[in-house]
Amino acid sequence: MTRLAILGAAGRMGSALVRCAQQLDTVDVAVAIDRQGHPAIGRDAGVVAGHGSIGVAISDDLATVRSADVLIDFTSHTAVPRHVQAAVDAGRAVVIGTTGLDEAETAAVHAAAKVVPVVWAPNMSLGVNLLFELVRQAAAVLGLDYDAEITETHHRHKTDAPSGTALGLAKAVAAGRQQQLADVACWGREGQVGARPKGEIGVHAIRAGDVIGDHTVILAGDNERLELSHRASSRDAFAMGALRAAHWAAQQPAGLYGMNDVLGL
Ligand code: NAD
Repeated sequence: MTRLAILGAAGRMGSALVRCAQQLDTVDVAVAIDRQGHPAIGRDAGVVAGHGSIGVAISDDLATVRSADVLIDFTSHTAVPRHVQAAVDAGRAVVIGTTGLDEAETAAVHAAAKVVPVVWAPNMSLGVNLLFELVRQAAAVLGLDYDAEITETHHRHKTDAPSGTALGLAKAVAAGRQQQLADVACWGREGQVGARPKGEIGVHAIRAGDVIGDHTVILAGDNERLELSHRASSRDAFAMGALRAAHWAAQQPAGLYGMNDVLGL
C-alpha cells in the first residue's frame, strides 16, 4: 500500500484524487495539504471531496508529508518549487500534475529529479498519453505539407494558457517533424498576420463554462484533413492516472519520468 500526501487537497483535482483513492487497494491517503488560510483547513479531506469522512484532516503543515511515501501536487505553479523541495527534504517521490510552470519553477523540478523520483506530466490520462504518440506518428508521416493546428478548450477557472496538454501536443508534432517548437510555434493570431508560413504549429486556447478538457490536433493538407481529438468527461481520468503514477514512482530510483514511463507506452 502506497501512502499518499495530496497537495491541493481542497481543489478540483485534489478532491478527485481523494475520492478515486478510496476505490483502489494500492494507495491510501495519509496526508492532505492545502494553502495557509484556505477555509477547508482542519476539515476532513474525504468530506471536502464529497465522499464522506476518511479520517484525514486537511492541514497547511508541509512537514507532515514525512508520514507519506509519495507527494502528489495539483496546486499552483508558484507553489511547485516549495513542494518539490519538501519532497527532497523528506526523501520522498513526487508526482506533479500542476501546469503553467515558468523557467525557474521548471528548473526546480529538474533539480529535485536528481535527488528523488519525479513523475511530471501535463496530462495524466491514458487517452491523452496515447494521443501524444499517435500525433507524433501522424506528423512524421504527413510532414510539412500538412498544416498543424491545435485547439484546446477548458473551464472558465483555468488560469494558464495554452494548456500544458496543448503544449505537449505541439511538442509531439514538432518531434514527429523534427522541428524545434520554439522556432515554429504560433500562439494564436490577430490582425494582419499574412499568409500561413509552411511548417508553423498554431496553438489556440478557448475558455468556456465547465469544460474539463478538450484537445484537437488538425493536420490539414490540400485535399484532406485529419483531426485527432480527446475529450475528458471526468477529472477522474487524470486522478486515476496520477494515483497509478504515485504507486509506480514509490518503487523507482531518482530521475525525471513522464506518463509514458508509468504506462509503459
Ligand atoms: P484548483 O484551483 O481547483 O485547485 C488547486 C488547489 O491547490 C486549491 O485548493 C488551492 O487552494 C491549492 N493551492 C494553491 N496554492 C497552494 C499552496 N501554496 N500550497 C498548498 N495548496 C495550494 O485547480 P485544479 O483544477 O485542481 O488544477 C490544479 C492544477 O492542476 C492546475 O495547474 C491544472 O492546470 C493542473 N491540472 C493538471 C492535470 C494533469 O493531468 N496533469 C489535470 C487537471 C488539472
